[in-house]
Amino acid sequence: MFVFLFILAKILITGGAGLIGSHLTDSLLAKGHQITCVDNFITGRKDNIENLLGNANYNLIEADVSNPPDTYLKEKDYQYLFHLASPASPKGYFNNPILTYKTNAFGTHYLLEFARNINARLLYSSTSESYGDPLEHPQKETYWGNVNPVGIRSCYDVSKRFGEMACMTNFRQFKQDVRIVRIFNTYGPRNDPYDGRVIPAFIMQALKNEPITIYGDGSHTRSYCYVADLVESLEKMMFGENLAGEIINLGNPEEYSILDTANIIKKLTNSNSEIIFKTMEGVRSEDPQKRQPDITKANTMLSWSPSTDFETGLKKTIEYFKKYI
Ligand code: NAD
Ligand code: UDP
Repeated sequence: MFVFLFILAKILITGGAGLIGSHLTDSLLAKGHQITCVDNFITGRKDNIENLLGNANYNLIEADVSNPPDTYLKEKDYQYLFHLASPASPKGYFNNPILTYKTNAFGTHYLLEFARNINARLLYSSTSESYGDPLEHPQKETYWGNVNPVGIRSCYDVSKRFGEMACMTNFRQFKQDVRIVRIFNTYGPRNDPYDGRVIPAFIMQALKNEPITIYGDGSHTRSYCYVADLVESLEKMMFGENLAGEIINLGNPEEYSILDTANIIKKLTNSNSEIIFKTMEGVRSEDPQKRQPDITKANTMLSWSPSTDFETGLKKTIEYFKKYI
């Protein structure tokens, strides 16, 4: 007879009021863990965590994690630390470039020190943007990327690369248990309807029968992962054994052009919206042309692959967005 011994843990989640952090929190609380969320609400929303306030196993600390943890954390007995804080949308980091790089650079450094001192495991949420405008397709973890170090997106992609470097340096120097995930475009209920990302922007435009705005000619691509699938992979990465110092892509390899994305959303919303094409400027002037994760490593090391197909995930997301119309 098998006996499962499951020890409940005390877990810190930075950026816990955001899209991914709030779903991760729901999932971990449902398993009985104790969660402390640290968030400054720069891009996250109180709506996302309203259901959690009052839960005895949930604690919210409103603070900026680019400051040393001693300034905002009293307790030091966490076993696991998910560092998810950072604006994620181009609009979010374009509007907050200094905070973005401070969060991924200073914040990651301080949290690594904090985690090491209390012997906690740290998972760092990096991004497919670490590959920049990739010349290798699909992208494997071994690819070094094609990043403009001083470009309009560098406050995000270069600071995420700094965060990865900090994790690996501490791993090498101290054998610290850190794990890095490179997350590819993730969407779902609790996406900010106004953050300008392709899925929320197109759904809101379609539901309002307003023009769906494509930047460029619509031939560039993205691969979209439903948030529940992503949360499952984050938990496997954090709680799996022998993963210290590993870097793993997490995402759904199904790849769509932006024009196809617009047409699918238009169909699923029964929308009369016209599809229009705009020039790429500002933060969009350095838009990566294509993006698709190679998830062989996640398949092998985490026994994980996403299970939600695009239309199923979109239908759930569209239902959520109806309350904002
Ligand atoms: P989100 O914007 O919904 O959530 C990020 C959260 O971090 C927000 O609640 C925000 O208020 C908080 N935050 C930002 N800076 C902070 C700071 N200095 N101190 C405290 N809180 C801060 O974004 P998300 O989609 O949930 O992304 C979570 C993480 O995953 C981010 O690190 C992001 O870079 C990464 N990621 C996300 C995607 C995606 O497609 N959603 C893709 C790649 C990587
Ligand atoms: N996009 C678009 N119209 C929009 C929003 C986004 O054509 O209203 C395109 C954008 O140019 C990019 C892709 O959709 O090529 C994904 O953009 P998003 O902001 O979601 O995230 P990114 O992957 O660029 O970080």
